[in-house]
Amino acid sequence: MTNFEPLHPLFGVIVGDVDLTGPLADDVFAEIRAAFEKYSLLVFHDQPVSDEQQLAFSRRFGPLELTKIGALGAGTELVILTNVDPDAGPDGAIAPPEHRLHGSHRANSLWHTDSSFKKTPALASLLSGRVVPSVGAETEFASMRAAYAALPDETKQHIEGKVVMHSFANSRNQIDKDLASSAERDELPPVPHPMVKANPATGEKSFYLASHAAHIVGMPVEDGKSLIAELIDATTAADRVYRHAWREHDLVMWDNRCMLHRGQPFDDQKYRRHMIRTTVSDVDAGAEAAA
Ligand code: MN
Repeated sequence: MTNFEPLHPLFGVIVGDVDLTGPLADDVFAEIRAAFEKYSLLVFHDQPVSDEQQLAFSRRFGPLELTKIGALGAGTELVILTNVDPDAGPDGAIAPPEHRLHGSHRANSLWHTDSSFKKTPALASLLSGRVVPSVGAETEFASMRAAYAALPDETKQHIEGKVVMHSFANSRNQIDKDLASSAERDELPPVPHPMVKANPATGEKSFYLASHAAHIVGMPVEDGKSLIAELIDATTAADRVYRHAWREHDLVMWDNRCMLHRGQPFDDQKYRRHMIRTTVSDVDAGAEAAA
């Protein structure tokens, strides 16, 4: 019987007694899906999955995203987050300090939710630690749903019905003006998303923000930016954050509709790090946006 052990008072569970390297029975999957809706962050230890096994488990949650241009794994269903020279394989040499790979890890150090800059945003990300540094490179998580629940009623009313513009370049520009390429800027123009959304399974509301959130439609740009920053700060106060220290073969899954996350630094010239992410599309949100 699958079991769930709490990680943080506000969200998250460790899922035990489950083997993701093989097919899951429907009732086991249903328990995991329900836990995902309820707890927003699932940690599975000791899951030495192959790419195919990770893809198979991920697909049970819905259709997978294709990786955007400019990322490793572009055009496939895998995002490869690595500091190892992509031409050398996971056992190869660490890429030199000036390599663009290190820039994307720095951009991941901003609080964000994956793919909010896409027209069809993401339901979930599944990240497996294939090779993990022994020091640093933790991933931190915080719940926008928990932060929304704690907002005063007048703030809830103020943000209800508002629309936020998200753009890939907005987050990259905070690190380095040259980090987003002109091809990425052309392929990924700013997109609108509702500021407040309810989970379709539970009805619980959350706001939806990220480092990609650039401004709020109908508000002066600077006012929108400070409101976004204020809400992200409230979400990520130290006592509201869970920090995941990776073990090799952890698979960590989170709800991109309501969780923020960020990567912590590590000595990227000393330790190798090789992570594989699969990303499930939020097809309900995509269909609403097109309607
Ligand atoms: Mn991310």
